[in-house]
Amino acid sequence: MRILAFLIVILAPVLAFPRLGLHEGYTRLVFDLDRQTQYQISQAPDTLTLRFSGMTAAASDTDVSSPQVASYQVVPAPNSATVFVRLRPNVEVKTTLLTDGNRRRLVVDVVSVVRPSQNPPQPPSRSEPPKPRTQPKIVVIDAGHGGIDPGAVGLVVEKEVTLDLALRLRQLLEKEGIEVILTRSTDTHLSPDKATDLGLRAEMAHSKRNLFISIHVNSAPSPAQGIETYYFGHTIDPSLLAQVIRENGGGELGRRLTREAQSVGERLVSDLIAQSNLKFSRQLAHLVQGAMLQATGAVDRGVRQAPFYVIRNARIPAILVEVGFANHPEEGRRLQTSEYRQALAEALARGILRFLNGG
Ligand SMILES: [Zn+2]
Repeated sequence: MRILAFLIVILAPVLAFPRLGLHEGYTRLVFDLDRQTQYQISQAPDTLTLRFSGMTAAASDTDVSSPQVASYQVVPAPNSATVFVRLRPNVEVKTTLLTDGNRRRLVVDVVSVVRPSQNPPQPPSRSEPPKPRTQPKIVVIDAGHGGIDPGAVGLVVEKEVTLDLALRLRQLLEKEGIEVILTRSTDTHLSPDKATDLGLRAEMAHSKRNLFISIHVNSAPSPAQGIETYYFGHTIDPSLLAQVIRENGGGELGRRLTREAQSVGERLVSDLIAQSNLKFSRQLAHLVQGAMLQATGAVDRGVRQAPFYVIRNARIPAILVEVGFANHPEEGRRLQTSEYRQALAEALARGILRFLNGG
C-alpha cells in the first residue's frame, strides 16, 4: 500500500512553481494560483519578493541565467511560500493577474530596460560627466523628536542633540559617497500629532533605501548613564517598556503605539523576510554600538530588542540608538560639547560604513 501511495504521488501532475519562460528582452515567471491564494509583491533594487499565502509549494533554488534574472528561490512555510527572484541590473518588473474561472495566473515579466547610454553611439561630447558605475547607497537618518516635541530634557535637550548628530553624520557619510535622507534637517516636527509624526518617519524606511537609523537621547528617573542600541522586537522587560512608551510618544498615546508595535513584533515571528531583515538589523546594531563605545569609553548598556514604533515596519536594516542620558550629571555635560558629539557622529559613521561594506 505504501508503494502504491508513493506511485500516486509521483504520477500526480506537478506544475512547476513558477513556470519559467525565456523570451527576447524579457524573462517570464508564471505562478499558477488557486482562488484562495493571496499574494504580496515587494521589490528591492536586486530582489523581487513574492509572498503567497493559502497554498503550498516545494522548496527550490534555480539558476536562470537569463539577461534579466539570475535565479529564483522558493522558500515554503506552513500554508505559505515566499519566492525570491534575484534581478539583474537595468530591468523593470511588470505583473499581470489573469483569471480563468477558479484558476488564476500571476504573470511576472522581468523586462530589460535600455538605458540612454546603451542607445546607438552618439558623437562624443567633452562636456558629458562620467556616469557613476554603481548606485549610491542611501541612508535615512532620523533625528528623534523636534519642533513641539523636545524629547528628554536635562543638561541637554534631546531634540537639539539628535539634530546636531544627524547633521554631523550626514556630512561624514556624504563624504564617503553615500546619499543621505534626513527625516528632518531643522527644529521641526513632521506632524503635531505624534502618531502621524512617527508614522511619517517610519515610512522613510522603505525598500528603495539601504539603512535606517533613529537617533535619541535617554533619560531616567534614577541616575543612569551609557549607550544602548536597539533593533526591533517584542519585549516583556518592564523597565524597558517605560522608556519605549516615552519614545513612542509618552502617556496614553505612547502606550497605544507600544501595544501596536508589540503586536507587529508578535506577527514578525512567522515572517521569513522580516526575520532575515532583523538579523541584518542586529548585525548593524552591534557594529554601531561597538564603534560608539570604542570612541567614547561610555558605559555599555548593550544591544537590545524593543518595540519602538518608528522601526516597527522597516523593510531595511533599522536601528535606534540612545547615545547617552540627558539628565546624568557627567554624561549630560559631555553631550553638551561639540567634541563629544563629533566623536559620536564619527563612530556612527564608522559603524554604518562597516555594515554597508559587508561587516
Ligand atoms: Zn527620544
